[in-house]
Amino acid sequence: MGGFQRMTEQRRLILEVLRGTTSHPTADWIYERVREQIPNVSLGTVYRNLRSLVNMGEILQLSYGSGQDRYDGNPEAHYHFRCSQCGSVSDVQLPYEPELDKRAAGSCPGRVTGHRLEFVGICADCRAEAKAKEAGEVAVFKCTKCGHEKEGRCKPRKCPECGSQNSFEKKE
Ligand code: ZN
Ligand code: MN
Repeated sequence: MGGFQRMTEQRRLILEVLRGTTSHPTADWIYERVREQIPNVSLGTVYRNLRSLVNMGEILQLSYGSGQDRYDGNPEAHYHFRCSQCGSVSDVQLPYEPELDKRAAGSCPGRVTGHRLEFVGICADCRAEAKAKEAGEVAVFKCTKCGHEKEGRCKPRKCPECGSQNSFEKKE
């Protein structure tokens, strides 16, 4: 397989990964998924292909200066909500407003061709976690084998870090 073909194969896989999720993942996340299929792929190659796909109009790159860039397999103009706590990004089911371009036209120092909008706030998961913490329901557990700490409502059975079974103890 020639260099060019390998390139398109990687690009196709990246696109498939992106189209298969609604999580608006980071490049790191995409890299991990792609690596499951192409073990010797590099993070740089993933970045290069992501840039090409953005330039081709196949995907969106969400960079608003807040946190890591995220990528979207849906290239249609639509709005997003970003959690300022965990950085998660989700779609906002609000119709795109072409009118906004016209209203902004007079105030912009050039020709307006579109707009991007990101709402910010605290996501439902983070709010639920904060509430549970407030109610004292969440405790910190520490692995007695490797020292890994994990927050949760109940004692984890297995340590995700070292793989030990029943090694967690509640931290006071
Ligand atoms: Zn969040
Ligand atoms: Mn989206």
